[in-house]
Amino acid sequence: MFTLPPLPYDYAALEPFIDEETMRLHHTKHHAAYVQNLNDALKTQTELENMDIINLIRNLKKLPPEIQNKVKNNAGGHLNHSAFWKMMGPKPRKEPSKSLLASIKKNFKSFKEFQELFTAAALGRFGSGWAWLVVEGKKLSIISTANQDSPISENKKPILALDVWEHAYYLRYQNRRSDYIDAWWNVVNWEEVERLYKEKS
Ligand code: MN
Repeated sequence: MFTLPPLPYDYAALEPFIDEETMRLHHTKHHAAYVQNLNDALKTQTELENMDIINLIRNLKKLPPEIQNKVKNNAGGHLNHSAFWKMMGPKPRKEPSKSLLASIKKNFKSFKEFQELFTAAALGRFGSGWAWLVVEGKKLSIISTANQDSPISENKKPILALDVWEHAYYLRYQNRRSDYIDAWWNVVNWEEVERLYKEKS
């Protein structure tokens, strides 16, 4: 059984950039529903009980066809949100520290250019989905995915994620996804991004 991980800070901790009500609903309703639906989908699959979430996503094709889509969407939702909460924080630094910053500059010319490209990927995702900074080997790249699709299923390691589903911003920003993205840059937890960057996958 999968469980909803606690938010690593208070619901109001990301104010004024991400509002308390959005955080509360996003975590206790949306993320909780992915966990619940994932457990529902797997309840007859006793042999999968001990499989971790990453292996589950990488081995979707081995699941019974009738539950593959439900598992893909909800395992993705659970994995993506679990990572997303930790990638934000109340008192973050403005930019990553040395080694990651050097790598970002190498891959995207400057930190500013990286932010512009990432923002463009987040704005350009039509409908619901995510923008990502991912690592493949030594290379960093920016991608976006639809729905709850995870870069992990393409063997790319995500180190920064931005949820651009409307549920992530509509209460405060309504249709202004661009304002939400601008605000979100203020709460990126670069220490976590750097930790993921350095971690062996
Ligand atoms: Mn979400």
